[in-house]
Amino acid sequence: MNLHEYQAKELLRKFDLPIPSGKFFQNNLKDIDLGVDFLKGPPWVVKSQIHAGGRGAGYFASSVNNKGGVQIAYTKDEVKYLTNAMLNNNLITKQTGEKGKKVSRIYVEEICDIHREYYLSFLIDRKTSQLMLMISASGGIDIESVAEKNPEKIHKIFFSDFDSFDIPNELEKLLNFNQNQFCQFKIIIEKLGRAFISLDASTIEINPLVINKSGNLLLLDAKIALDDNALFRHPEYLQLRDTSEENEMELEASKNDMNYIKLDGEIGCMVNGAGLAMATMDIVKQFGKEPANFLDLGGTANKERTTKGFKIIQSDPNVKSVLINIFGGIIHCDMIANGIIDAIKELNYKLPVVVRFQGTNASEGKNIINKSSLGLVSIDDLTEAAKKVVDLASK
Ligand code: GDP
Ligand code: MN
Repeated sequence: MNLHEYQAKELLRKFDLPIPSGKFFQNNLKDIDLGVDFLKGPPWVVKSQIHAGGRGAGYFASSVNNKGGVQIAYTKDEVKYLTNAMLNNNLITKQTGEKGKKVSRIYVEEICDIHREYYLSFLIDRKTSQLMLMISASGGIDIESVAEKNPEKIHKIFFSDFDSFDIPNELEKLLNFNQNQFCQFKIIIEKLGRAFISLDASTIEINPLVINKSGNLLLLDAKIALDDNALFRHPEYLQLRDTSEENEMELEASKNDMNYIKLDGEIGCMVNGAGLAMATMDIVKQFGKEPANFLDLGGTANKERTTKGFKIIQSDPNVKSVLINIFGGIIHCDMIANGIIDAIKELNYKLPVVVRFQGTNASEGKNIINKSSLGLVSIDDLTEAAKKVVDLASK
């Protein structure tokens, strides 16, 4: 689950990290005058809140003034003007795709005089199964191009023991810190490391971490992703979820206990079991097309869930053909067959569908598919089924 910047900062403040004060506005715009009075300033920084980076360098669909999603306001009137212009406007950044994301929350923050910008992130490194800190003195907006062109400028430190987050001394020079700043840096890393563990985060990214003109370190931006599988340990964080930021189909699937992830290809895939779903996607790719989605119906799928799952995958306009790959175990292939047929009839679905059944009641399932006279293709062999579905998508 991704958090907005203002939410991330609120959580991190509890770990006593140095973060500028700010106020968040959504439905309380009439409080801007009062709210801003609580903050040091003018000037203030007005920040669009969306679940995507690159806001500073982004632009709005209906232009505010072409200065992007993070702007400085020198008067209260300017705070109000910028807030109104940004709200309900689509902000387009490197990470949003060309339609951008609608801004419905604004964060106004005390300004900071930046001397230097660093990039910092904590994440789980899958290769080593360790907590990894990435830090670079080339921080600020475009860390992706640093990673591409000068990967040596990004330093990686691994932690296997979560009691201490020790930093090697050579980083003081490598990162151009003086002694006092390095000391502040070590304290920040210690606190962020503890925050990462205690929040059950999967990523914390601070870009930029800055040194201000007085020589102090501050967290100027914060992005946190929480580990969904650990959310049951933190029911209080569920209210931080902003479903308007999530893919509609993914949301609908999760409401129905299915795991759907939208992808960019043309072959809709409906499978039971995550491993089989991955293998199905691999074999589709092998025959030259990309899967349109990952969908795991789950081990306890029933007829209704099958119908729902089919409706979800076909609602993606990129889908040209559908491959259904079911290994009957606890779930019975004939029940799945009836679910598919219900969905196809209800939707009057016309695109090609290839069905592959194996396991419990596979032959009963195939009979139902073959007798349906809906033009569904039933194939036993996965390789043949994948070839066929790719072939049908190309017609
Ligand atoms: P992002 O573009 O989505 O990563 O949003 P950020 O919160 O990182 O803001 C983008 C950029 O705006 C930062 O990299 C800073 O250079 C700048 N910025 C943000 N807050 C301040 C501030 O208080 N003072 C100044 N001078 N610049 C700021
Ligand atoms: Mn940033």
